[in-house]
Amino acid sequence: MSGCIFCSIVAGDIPADVVSSTEHTVSFRDIAPAAQVHVLVVPRDHHRDIASLAVADPAAAADLLAQARQVAGQEGFDDFRLVFNTGESAGQTVFHAHGHVLAGPELPAGAERHIDAASAQNGTT
Ligand code: 5GP
Ligand code: ZN
Repeated sequence: MSGCIFCSIVAGDIPADVVSSTEHTVSFRDIAPAAQVHVLVVPRDHHRDIASLAVADPAAAADLLAQARQVAGQEGFDDFRLVFNTGESAGQTVFHAHGHVLAGPELPAGAERHIDAASAQNGTT
């Protein structure tokens, strides 16, 4: 989709540190990592969020989920967190579906920065 940053990354028009790619997905490092490993797994096709993707293209959604384990594993971690901010008030800022794969030796609670922001607003941090 024109004007979508993740479509531009998938097309190779904007550079990104790509760590894997499959028939349905491209995975690349987040530009502002919130953990030692912070990789975004995105479908090649444009869908505004993971819920829309799951309805429109279940095979791509399944591939995306499988890639989360693959990416964490190739980065050296069996355990990982997978976050899908879905909708603006939930912290989604890029409206092309993506999963945040977060992993590290001591992954803190709320390592994804939007969860941290929500916690701060609630006064829980
Ligand atoms: P959201 O807030 O929508 O859940 O996540 C969007 C993520 O995309 C953020 O963590 C942000 O750091 C990342 N991001 C935004 N623009 C770019 C970019 O141009 N390149 C990369 N690699 N990550 C980006
Ligand atoms: Zn897009």
